Amino acid sequence: MKAVVYKSTGSWYRVKAENNEFKDARIRGKFKTDEITSTNPVAVGDEVTISEEASGDVMIIEIAPRKNYITRQSPQNKNLQHIIAANLDQAVLMASLRNPRTSTGFIDRFLVACEAFHVPAILVFNKSDLYREKDNKEFQRLKSLYESMKYPVISTSLFEHSGIEDFKNSIKGKRSLVSGHSGVGKSSLINYILPGTDIKIQDVSGWSGKGMHTTTFAEMYDLPFGGAVIDTPGMREFAIHDISPVELSHYFAEMRPLIGQCRFNNCLHTEEPDCAIKNGVAAGIIDTGRYISYLNILESMEEKKW
Ligand code: GDP
Ligand code: ZN
Repeated sequence: MKAVVYKSTGSWYRVKAENNEFKDARIRGKFKTDEITSTNPVAVGDEVTISEEASGDVMIIEIAPRKNYITRQSPQNKNLQHIIAANLDQAVLMASLRNPRTSTGFIDRFLVACEAFHVPAILVFNKSDLYREKDNKEFQRLKSLYESMKYPVISTSLFEHSGIEDFKNSIKGKRSLVSGHSGVGKSSLINYILPGTDIKIQDVSGWSGKGMHTTTFAEMYDLPFGGAVIDTPGMREFAIHDISPVELSHYFAEMRPLIGQCRFNNCLHTEEPDCAIKNGVAAGIIDTGRYISYLNILESMEEKKW
């Protein structure tokens, strides 16, 4: 029978079978997933084949090839990737300009990761009720900046109940991964559109009792109006994986059309002469903040080599 994975704890997988029944399934031994070296063979969103054994145990016996997936670096081993979720229609970053403020550097890292994983991205800025005049201006600036790169930008306030319909429309009928810094209102918003779910701010079910180690698991929830959201408690950052420094600018949507115009075809857009990207920044075609994000990510990639 075919099924979809809704939650993975590492040893158990909660799956929804074709007949809409939820079951707890396991895997036997190791699966060959040669796509990436990952710490988890089965991820939320995976389409699997299950088989019910005579003992009553439900086993996952096959995983269908993934349309896409998003990973993060394994906290235990820097060279390993942990698949957060697979087969996504989009990734939503919940951000805010107040309490807490999400930095544009963080937003740009998220967008680069989404580009690299071929997952369309959406930005939702919550807590607009807390904005002062200068925050409203900043929001308008960021909205036109990111929308010029074709990323939808939505403003919400749960407290004033504004933008909630826009948010619902943007996730309707799609499978969306939702992430963001803790405190931006992610759980409140998901709980609001999914009455009865009661997502906790911090999932401590992975408490091992051996030191301060908590594990968090992604979980998928069906939406009453079609589609599903995948909550990623405690996951701050996606991996910027398998990108070489010279490719990085390809994942900045607005830089892509200019790249071929640099003097050197391996231009990193830092010190090189006749660089189309730097000229674009100087001419105001490329946002200075985005270029700074580019330099910061480039620097973090170069550090990793050592
Ligand atoms: P999460 O860590 O992103 O899941 O954030 P929570 O959902 O736990 O929310 C963090 C805090 O922000 C809580 O005190 C919420 O009541 C509050 N909050 C959520 N949405 C809004 C909003 O639209 N405006 C304001 N002012 N506070 C909000
Ligand atoms: Zn260049």
